[in-house]
Amino acid sequence: MARRTKIVATIGPASDDPTVLRRMIEAGMDMARISLAHGPVEESLQRIARLRTAAADAGAIVGVLADLPGPKIRAAGFPQGGVYLEVGQEVALVPAEPGDHSGPDRIAVDHPTLLEELRAGDRIALGDGGVLLVIAGVDADRAVARVLSSGRLEGRPGVNLPPERFSIATPTPDDLRMLDAVVAAGVDAVAVSFVRDHQDVRAVKRAAGPDGPMIVAKIETPSAVDDIVRIIEESDGVMVARGDLGVRCALEDVPHHQKHIIRVGVAFARPVITATQMLESMIHAPTPTRAEVSDVANAVFDGTSAVMLSAETAIGRDPVNVVATMSRIAVRAEQDFDHAAWGNRLGPQQLAGASPTARITAAISAAAWRAATDAEVTAIIACTNSGATARAISRFRPTAPILAATPSITTARQLSMAWGIRPMLVDPQPTTDEVVWFAVQAATRTGVVKPDDVVAVLVGSPVETEPTTDVLRLVRVH
Ligand code: PGA
Ligand code: MN
Repeated sequence: MARRTKIVATIGPASDDPTVLRRMIEAGMDMARISLAHGPVEESLQRIARLRTAAADAGAIVGVLADLPGPKIRAAGFPQGGVYLEVGQEVALVPAEPGDHSGPDRIAVDHPTLLEELRAGDRIALGDGGVLLVIAGVDADRAVARVLSSGRLEGRPGVNLPPERFSIATPTPDDLRMLDAVVAAGVDAVAVSFVRDHQDVRAVKRAAGPDGPMIVAKIETPSAVDDIVRIIEESDGVMVARGDLGVRCALEDVPHHQKHIIRVGVAFARPVITATQMLESMIHAPTPTRAEVSDVANAVFDGTSAVMLSAETAIGRDPVNVVATMSRIAVRAEQDFDHAAWGNRLGPQQLAGASPTARITAAISAAAWRAATDAEVTAIIACTNSGATARAISRFRPTAPILAATPSITTARQLSMAWGIRPMLVDPQPTTDEVVWFAVQAATRTGVVKPDDVVAVLVGSPVETEPTTDVLRLVRVH
């Protein structure tokens, strides 16, 4: 059976070649993430255009997730291959000039008032926290730091200054400018970094407009973990952003946050992306560590909708091999996925106090999940305009494949981060009977469904205000 867990791969300099992009799609990239933190927005817009072309050439539906950097302070770029900092070594920190670079003895930081704000004794984590510095002293033109924990620095690592003196609001004015540019470019989803609570998500949602892209909240601060239920209600999806989360929370808490965020996200039918360092060693190596293989498999067991690749595919040595490796690990893990446990936990879930449409959707999708088992269906077909009907059934993590029939290419692409859903483009139809008939025809053409099979078909009503799933039909295919 096809892989159910989706793969989000970050594209960057290592994946700019159209042949590489095409092969990444063929190897299993379902959604491409473009990090807006690393270069001018024009470069990202070109990447989006190249990805769209590669997807069209491959005849594949691939979503685009544009990732707004938020108030992250970064170092100017390190030379190719990076530099290694040794414990005890001294390194200067300076505010970056335009076009500046970082090196082994001098790190240029994108924060003009750096020297006014730093104090002797401050601890600074670089990148995803691997390298730790302590400030020894600050003069007029530089701060001198000593390395407490060694490691390699590459690309433009984040510089985590003491949060009490350096906390800037999300979204930043830069985020909002970039949001306009990527919305105009027609991206399918936007990720928001360093949200502090659900209000930050709401601000971005409002700025993106009513027909804007999906908004994915990156959970990477302790306050976001505390507000997780309301953030998930406010968002269209969430990311377990383990890199910065591990810098700001106790490292040993991160796996527990991951499980909790996934459980709440699935309960609310929101896609959850598990991110960062999943196959980190493959930035340089042809095979992953055993611990990384276990990490990807465990994220699948946790019920994540998607697993993500960052530097592995953006600046790594062999992005195609990384995607193929991740796909193999996920497919194998899914053979031992406990589908029944998910359905049994969510099936009887009470939605007391939810809106009438939400209660209808929950009840009909739960009925579909049960009927799928009782009638031994070959597939569940979700007919959906917004994607909500497909996500409503996906949250039960059913054994039967889910096919989503939609007339909207945007919806089809947005489903590329949702668990287990294979999108199919269909023409719009005027009546429910025709919607069902044409969706079953489309499912037959995929080869997943054959004559005499039984399928469960769910249909969403085209209500403008709140999408509702209100029809379930069991159909014997002719
Ligand atoms: P980033 O977000 O890669 O944009 O920092 C993900 C994370 O922090 O894990
Ligand atoms: Mn982050």
